[in-house]
Amino acid sequence: MPSKSALQTSCPACGASDAKLEFFQMQIPYFGEVMESVLLCSRCGYRNADVVVLEEREPARYTLRIESAEDMYARVIRSSRASIEVPELGVEVTPGSEAEGFVSNVEGVLLRIEEAVRIAGRWAESGKARERARELLRQINEIRTGKRRATLIITDPTGNSAILSEKAKKEVLHEDITGKQKGAQHH
Ligand SMILES: [Zn+2]
Repeated sequence: MPSKSALQTSCPACGASDAKLEFFQMQIPYFGEVMESVLLCSRCGYRNADVVVLEEREPARYTLRIESAEDMYARVIRSSRASIEVPELGVEVTPGSEAEGFVSNVEGVLLRIEEAVRIAGRWAESGKARERARELLRQINEIRTGKRRATLIITDPTGNSAILSEKAKKEVLHEDITGKQKGAQHH
């Protein structure tokens, strides 16, 4: 069971002094202690979530070949600093200011991508873009049901992210790569 604690803090969006910051601490098998934090402001509705691993981790990239519906259950920890890529879909989620950290599984990651594609499709101006969104949704569904293979790549220069599967490949990032990523974020 995750242990939970909460405190009051000021809201970074509207400055209200009674925003609530909640912490959920949990032990993830074969990985370690993880703390999820959620900041909620009842005045303006601001919400921010993140994940921190409570031990020293190295900057790393995890790659998982998704080959069956069983791969959907592999645990995924994504901090707000990590990028998510599914090259076969041409999808790359880069860590922006709105990026949220979460503890989920591969299916949860695909559902988040699906939701983003659905929203993008709804706002698309051209018929071609809407058609592309429909095609992506079809492909995501095939990946989820094990009918299509894909690769999930999570890269985190802070080392606070991971894909927990025996099949996942972990590469420790060298300093030049992390340096480049940090540099790129300032632009
Ligand atoms: Zn607020």
